[in-house]
Amino acid sequence: MKQLDDSQLPRANVTVRVSHSTLNYKDALAITGRAPIARSFPMVPGIDLVGVVEESGSPMYQPGDAVLLNGWGVGERHWGGLAQRARVDADWLVPLPTAFSARDAMAVGTAGYTAMLCVMALERHGVTPDRGEIVVTGAAGGVGSFAVAILARLGYQVAGVTGRMGEAPYIMELGASTVLDRAEFTAPGRPLQKERWAGAVDVVGSHTLANVCAATRYRGVVTACGLAGGMDLPASVAPFILRGVTLAGIDSVMCPREERIAAWNRLATDLDLGKIPHIAREIGLSEVIATAPALLDGRVRGRVIVNVDS
Ligand code: NAP
Repeated sequence: MKQLDDSQLPRANVTVRVSHSTLNYKDALAITGRAPIARSFPMVPGIDLVGVVEESGSPMYQPGDAVLLNGWGVGERHWGGLAQRARVDADWLVPLPTAFSARDAMAVGTAGYTAMLCVMALERHGVTPDRGEIVVTGAAGGVGSFAVAILARLGYQVAGVTGRMGEAPYIMELGASTVLDRAEFTAPGRPLQKERWAGAVDVVGSHTLANVCAATRYRGVVTACGLAGGMDLPASVAPFILRGVTLAGIDSVMCPREERIAAWNRLATDLDLGKIPHIAREIGLSEVIATAPALLDGRVRGRVIVNVDS
């Protein structure tokens, strides 16, 4: 933790008085140094931020506007949100939807926005609730929690996969109708398995993603957004060429502005905000460094909001 002067902020055209940020898997990797997320030093981590514009050299924003930011390399290549002030490009900002308080927007953060991108990809590929069950891996984590909550609210039947069966009541409370043990997914499996899933949101990768693809029904859709279990994909092409399964990659970082705004607008309507106190808890900026290893070790449930003023 360091006190810096505003003159040290990087060059960009909008200065934001940050009120809240979050702690994501990627932030925890950056803070602990377990993966080379920070591309230059010194770096302020934090891939999410919300706050109020203080100064703007862009016609897109005026002082006083409430804004949020997810990704674009912020917290990786450009100083990020785990600070009281950020200087960023106007193009990276999204007006804070009126449905959300600043704190709620960070409860959602990159995790909820990515979950929404996954849901939108399922829809784009024709996966409607009547097509059958959707599996969500890492269901007690940030992306997983929001994926379960959004899909259930939209009328899908959801199976959550977790390594913490003690969190099964939490995942059911979010709207899952079944909770499965991660152990059933992490070992190498057959290239084609009994058809079960109409769609999937996978945050884990590796054998879990391979097994999910192998058990996806004819013409089902698997959205892949994470690597919490590994970056590899030890799979066969069988589900794709014999069952017409679609593997849809999801990237939140460089996602075009129009699609981000669409995702945030969908979150404003399709997320039950009443679930947020259940999913997210708040910590102060001073607690971030100690919380990062716990998040990577899968000991943090749901989302972590960071109040940068405490
Ligand atoms: P998170 O809150 O830490 O959740 C990850 C969850 O994955 C954990 O809670 C755990 O869920 C499960 N998990 C952890 N280690 C595992 C392992 N070794 N094997 C199987 N499951 C494991 O992280 P997050 O912020 O939701 O992010 C999840 C993943 O998505 C990360 O890899 C992150 O980098 C990625 N992500 C990608 C994008 C994108 O743009 N593509 C955006 C956001 C996040 P259970 O305890 O329920 O098993």
